[in-house]
Amino acid sequence: MANEEKFQDVKIQGVIERISGPLVVAKGMLGASMYDVVHIGEIGLIGEIVELKEDTASIQAYEETSGLKPGEPVICLGEPLSVELGPGIIEQFYDGIQRPLELIEKAAKSHFISRGINVPAIDRGKKWKFTPKVKAGDLVEEGDVLGVVQETVIVEHRIMVPHGLRGTVKSIRAGDLTVEETAAVIEYKGVQHEVKMLQRWPVRTPRPVTRRLPPNVPMSTGQRVVDAFFPIALGGTACVPGPFGSGKTVIQHQFAKWAQAQIVVYVGCGERGNEMTDVLLEFPELEDPQSGHPLMKRTTLIANTSNMPVAAREASIYTAITLAEYYRDMGYSVALMADSTSRWAEALREMSGRLEEMPGEEGYPAYLGTRLASFYERAGRCIVKGKDGKEGSISVIGAVSPPGGDLSEPVTQNTLRVTKVFWGLDANLAYQRHFPAINWLSSYSLYTETLDEYWNGRFDDEWSGLRIQAMSLLEEEDQLREVVRLVGIDALSKEERMVLETAKSLREDFLHQNAFHEVDTYASMDKQFRMLKTIIRFHHAGMDALKKGAPMNELFNLPVREQIARMRYLEEKHIDRIDKLEDTIKEEINRLVPDAAAFKGGEQNVA
Ligand code: ADP
Repeated sequence: MANEEKFQDVKIQGVIERISGPLVVAKGMLGASMYDVVHIGEIGLIGEIVELKEDTASIQAYEETSGLKPGEPVICLGEPLSVELGPGIIEQFYDGIQRPLELIEKAAKSHFISRGINVPAIDRGKKWKFTPKVKAGDLVEEGDVLGVVQETVIVEHRIMVPHGLRGTVKSIRAGDLTVEETAAVIEYKGVQHEVKMLQRWPVRTPRPVTRRLPPNVPMSTGQRVVDAFFPIALGGTACVPGPFGSGKTVIQHQFAKWAQAQIVVYVGCGERGNEMTDVLLEFPELEDPQSGHPLMKRTTLIANTSNMPVAAREASIYTAITLAEYYRDMGYSVALMADSTSRWAEALREMSGRLEEMPGEEGYPAYLGTRLASFYERAGRCIVKGKDGKEGSISVIGAVSPPGGDLSEPVTQNTLRVTKVFWGLDANLAYQRHFPAINWLSSYSLYTETLDEYWNGRFDDEWSGLRIQAMSLLEEEDQLREVVRLVGIDALSKEERMVLETAKSLREDFLHQNAFHEVDTYASMDKQFRMLKTIIRFHHAGMDALKKGAPMNELFNLPVREQIARMRYLEEKHIDRIDKLEDTIKEEINRLVPDAAAFKGGEQNVA
């Protein structure tokens, strides 16, 4: 449509002057704009203009530039780097500029070339059964759903009125259509606009929404350490640094499977080729526990393969978040996972170096922080465009891989400035096989207090109290451990020993969660609340009993403690059994207190 017309008009042809790795400098580019897409050389490599001085354009090439020569043509397409939107995105594996990996591979094999391949992001030949949701004569505005297509067994793809368009539906078709066939005609002020299922959007421009909403609704993940202690809100942002082997991949898989998100967008910037291949091999194997279908049925994957130069990584996170916004606009909650943004930042650094920009900290460009912010700011929960005021959200989980685990380096620091949650994966915990290896002392979530209100509403105002007590016990444990290290366990009082016991129980029976155990892998908030309550109940009852002279070792070895340790393996349908443990705790502890008649299990002494 408009874009294509523009494309015809503004065809600028320049000439390569100089090539330096992924940076190509071309002359004769007058009329081109920043971030316009260009085709470079006879072979037609894809690139993007990143700097303009008079008629000279600096271009970052998204493909390997070997073999290019000065004097070869550069054609400017007159439009910014854009993604194609329409049915067929889910289940796809794309590269950083939305070329389907499978198609590139096929094209590369049959033509014996692997560069300059122009394959469409969305299949042009495939027919989709389009079911209209409006009829001729209806008034529609941008964001309104014109009709739907069953994209996969799980995902209903909603075809929306494109941005900037409103009017009266003149006609709408039902039945099998390709993405390029006209699905509806909309008339505004006497002008007719054909709407197809295929639409385009420039990746560096956020898609507009009607209104942003505060992050006061949790995105539960079924992972206890996250939901109970360091929760993320729907539309929130989180940062996970992960030393190698600390369980970053497992955590991301757990989120993809269990987080309350309907769509998953995964963008991978691998360090080495094989890292990416792992993801490409692993994701299709994952099953969606909620539907029983493969997880890919609600996932789209963007992978920077090893044969693409660094510049393609730079584009990939924008490609990813634009796809996420598109599904958000349909009214879905989307979880976007980026692994790892450090590799993305390195691409930024390399390009900046080649452009001879003034380097900032550790050679990263001074705009590293603003670029990161402009990515994370596109997360959020909002009322999307359209008359019916649907809600949609994008929650972003960005992994960073700081060299040597040094969190003070610029990428981590700039990420922490914009994200609200930090899950500190800890190599020591992983080494001790405490999984998920999220360090409860260094992690934080700025959503905790807002979300407390939400959970207090559900759990009779008890939730925040339990969480705060549990966390302070864990902090106290840390200090007591230091004492024990210096002067030995005998220096501790009975009460302090009880703190150590409870903290151990919190760590082993609550925080520790085995992703590979059929039941333990996921815990509902109802289950998490009951588990936490039981551990804290035992603590208070135990403290009281100790004060009344109960023998410490017997208290620590009561049979009910075994039941507490097994709570995590109770299936969701049996979680009410956890409530019954409260009576067992009282009974067993009562038996240990010398003057049992005077003690009512954890309550005040009424003798
Ligand atoms: P990374 O991606 O950080 O290198 P992985 O996610 O591959 O690390 O985790 C390394 C290993 O740690 C896994 O193969 C698995 O054995 C173990 N692991 C990680 N998280 C968990 C978990 N939640 N439950 C059980 N085992 C885990």
